[in-house]
Amino acid sequence: MTAAPHSGDAAATGPQADPVAELMAAAGPAILEELDEAYPASLLLVGRILGGRTGATDARIVGLDRNGVELLLRDGGHDHPVRVEFAEPVTDADLITRALFDLVRRARAESGEEGETEAERIDRERERLRTFFTTVASVEDVHPHLRRITLRGGDLATFEPVGPDTFVYFLLPPPGRRELTVDRTFTWELHARMPEDERPVGAYYTVRRWRPDVQEADVLVVLHGDDGHASRWAARAAPGDPVAIWGPRTAYHPPPGTAHLLVVADDTALPAAASVLEQLPPGTTATVLAEVAGEDEHQELPGGEGIDVTWLHRDGAAPGTTTLLPDAVRALPPLPARTYVWGGGESRAMTAIRRHVRSERGLPRDAVSLLAYWRRTEDGAAR
Ligand SMILES: Cc1cc2nc3c(=O)[nH]c(=O)nc-3n(C[C@H](O)[C@H](O)[C@H](O)COP(=O)(O)OP(=O)(O)OC[C@H]3O[C@@H](n4cnc5c(N)ncnc54)[C@H](O)[C@@H]3O)c2cc1C
Repeated sequence: MTAAPHSGDAAATGPQADPVAELMAAAGPAILEELDEAYPASLLLVGRILGGRTGATDARIVGLDRNGVELLLRDGGHDHPVRVEFAEPVTDADLITRALFDLVRRARAESGEEGETEAERIDRERERLRTFFTTVASVEDVHPHLRRITLRGGDLATFEPVGPDTFVYFLLPPPGRRELTVDRTFTWELHARMPEDERPVGAYYTVRRWRPDVQEADVLVVLHGDDGHASRWAARAAPGDPVAIWGPRTAYHPPPGTAHLLVVADDTALPAAASVLEQLPPGTTATVLAEVAGEDEHQELPGGEGIDVTWLHRDGAAPGTTTLLPDAVRALPPLPARTYVWGGGESRAMTAIRRHVRSERGLPRDAVSLLAYWRRTEDGAAR
């Protein structure tokens, strides 16, 4: 459940005793940090109104469980802990963001104040999101761990990308089924109420190329084995397979006047990185740090004047187990003025880079968009 796409919307992961506790035990500090970075004004609104500290000027999230959040509110020069309960317990770790957004909505309604915080902006933008039904038109292996899947037709007649990193959520058939279990009325509220064996599974993927004349979208899917529903589906995808996609969304928001881009990406974010670089405004330069298994898994990236690409090879290490990307960022010389840092990859790597560029390089919050595109788990369980 990362900030922007905040996988916060993703599919169910099977029956678990307390999925929020499990997620917090595995990655608690990183998750709290992501929420702090993504939703500072939203958390403050919740703390001020629902936590009863109307004079607070700053809020940090310091705890999260299935029943609510703990916030530290800065008020009158002191920190005050407050706890705010969710309306109902969160039963799926992927629905945490939704529960937080519900708190923000409640706080706004109770406050009677005008305004719009980060969570409310995302909520508003989500209202235009839809479910598109389309079909796999072709499948091509770029290399043994990367598959190009082309979708064509159906509702793509009215699809429009929303940014260079445009991404969509693939709503796939539940495990063991071939037919889709959603229709155009799909919402995440409905999803939460669907019987377990009817719930779609899925993941976010980037629209690498969009050809409006023929209503075709290419996605490049990393095949990481059968432990993930989406990777499993992609490895078996064939022309004619039905696909539902929910979106489109973007998390690429360079501040006005951006002169330089620092792009950090592993295999999963390289399709988006390639599109971002293709659409770089004239005069903007870019430093690209790209992590892949080895030379034979390089992905196509636009080069040219002002774009400096460094490939980092895992050399046999498993994805998500190295510090190649954070180490490479730390080793960079001072960043040019008006740098925007954009990237995606494994959650821990993105957290380490965010900490470094925010604390040690002093970049402001709006100059950094680093997304946890995926989260490594040791047991292969989803998220
Ligand atoms: C905005 C956004 C855009 C994205 N765009 C793309 C894209 O264009 N192409 C792409 O391939 N991915 C992309 N991703 C990442 C993709 O959504 C994740 O890799 C997702 O976890 C795959 O789902 P799954 O069902 O296969 O595995 P999950 O059920 O999520 O995970 C199952 C297991 O597989 C592991 N795992 C998950 N992903 C990987 C991986 N890449 N390598 C190794 N192990 C992994 C997990 O740690 C876990 O142990 C994007 C993610 C986001 C948020």
